[in-house]
Amino acid sequence: LLALTILGSNSAIPAFGRNPTAQLLQTEECSFLIDCGEGTQTQLARYKLRNSKLSYIFISHLHGDHYFGLIGLLTSMSLLNRTQELHVYGPEPLGKIIEIQLEAGEVSLNYPLHFHPLKQEGIICQTGKMEIQCFKMQHRIECWGFLFKEIKNPRSVDTAKAKTYEIPLAFYEQLKRGENYIHKDGRIIQNAEVTTAAPKARSYAYCADTLYDENIANKIKGADLIYHESTYLKEEQQKAFQRYHSTTIQAANIAKIAETKQLIIGHFSSKYEKLEAFLAEAKEVFENTTLAVEGSCYKI
Ligand SMILES: [Zn+2]
Ligand SMILES: [Zn+2]
Repeated sequence: LLALTILGSNSAIPAFGRNPTAQLLQTEECSFLIDCGEGTQTQLARYKLRNSKLSYIFISHLHGDHYFGLIGLLTSMSLLNRTQELHVYGPEPLGKIIEIQLEAGEVSLNYPLHFHPLKQEGIICQTGKMEIQCFKMQHRIECWGFLFKEIKNPRSVDTAKAKTYEIPLAFYEQLKRGENYIHKDGRIIQNAEVTTAAPKARSYAYCADTLYDENIANKIKGADLIYHESTYLKEEQQKAFQRYHSTTIQAANIAKIAETKQLIIGHFSSKYEKLEAFLAEAKEVFENTTLAVEGSCYKI
């Protein structure tokens, strides 16, 4: 299971039934919340997404449309008797913001909250099955994108065959890494005899608020699914530039250069009620594009 649900697709303010930015990436192991605009906890409840598996929150930057829902979610989880630890990643001042909000209300959370300030590009976190990297966006203030990648062994064990060669279960991890097995009678069982190539590790790239920057495409090259902000239509390229945002065509160009399979565009400006033109324009450059719509779910 690797599935992404859109919780909020709008920029700046809630408008036309669209919420500010938030997304949930689910795996069997745990869930990752990416940005947490106002109303995120309500959205999680609306789509029946449980907080109990949520162990990691990533905040791209400190514009309100990306984190004003955070303190509400953090305190609600405490009120709901959460006990397992939670990790929050974001720009350094976020740690202070959370602290002051909790202190002012004399709130102490029921669960351990660990804040990790983002400092440089690279791997920031590894769970058993996922590795998360951050990379810089080109926005008016410090802003980060996130790349979620499965950690996969290169080989899968053919258990029926492994049994016929009497390979113990304890050796399966080494088989998955490609090692040969030396049988107790001295025979060498070649790895390829008992394993097959594992399916490719899947990945998802989240590109938050940014100017058009081809370097970003290189950092997320080959990701199966990419989300890229597209605040404006192409005719507003000048405005997008002045406000450190991207257009439909620019988002689609990043997807094309990054050679992804699918692109989601979102972070729509609140001045647009209808979004058909966003889709049509992006598709001119990158055919497999969809609009971020609240409640839509993508299986990666
Ligand atoms: Zn924004
Ligand atoms: Zn922003």
